[in-house]
Amino acid sequence: MNVKRIFCIGKNYAEHVAELAHLGHTADGECVVFMKPASCVVAAGQAIALPRGRGSIHHEAELAVRLGGGGADVPPEQATRHITHLTLGLDLTLRDLQTSLKNKGKPWELAKAFDHAAPLGAWTDYRGQDLQALEFTCHVNGQLRQKGNTRDVLFPIARIVHILSQTWALQAGDVVYTGTPAGVGPLVPGDRVVLEGAGLGRHQWSFV
Ligand code: ZN
Repeated sequence: MNVKRIFCIGKNYAEHVAELAHLGHTADGECVVFMKPASCVVAAGQAIALPRGRGSIHHEAELAVRLGGGGADVPPEQATRHITHLTLGLDLTLRDLQTSLKNKGKPWELAKAFDHAAPLGAWTDYRGQDLQALEFTCHVNGQLRQKGNTRDVLFPIARIVHILSQTWALQAGDVVYTGTPAGVGPLVPGDRVVLEGAGLGRHQWSFV
């Protein structure tokens, strides 16, 4: 399934916002949106070469939704009808670089939109599951690093779709990474990441 565009939501789980506060990453109550090119996608089961010499690279486990279209100005109450598939993905982040860019007021692309920055699991059909009760985990080398539940988001998915559609006419194949819960941390060569959730599948990548 081709990915058209990748929209990412930042700072959507309060506990994750809190864990990065010491780096000067603060939230102001507005929905943080950024993008990755579709060429960043890496299907599950692949080995991913980590960028070298660019500081820490963090895993951010996230629920990802795929849209069948929607166009402009989708009302929040109609947003879920445009969701066709769900999965889990990693919003890989060069954290040191992101912090430095952020503190200088510069865009994040160098830290968020590099090649292989969007590992994305195989899709599961969306069959009307409650989007505010989806639980998922991220294990690194068998150890639990992140556990999230979409009931904890600051911006529910329907509202995210609405917000995005005010700037972009939503198209089939658009994908939204919906933000990461607490527990983000560095990856090093040799690590194996498994993302898993009930009804969301089990997806794995190795890092070299
Ligand atoms: Zn993220």
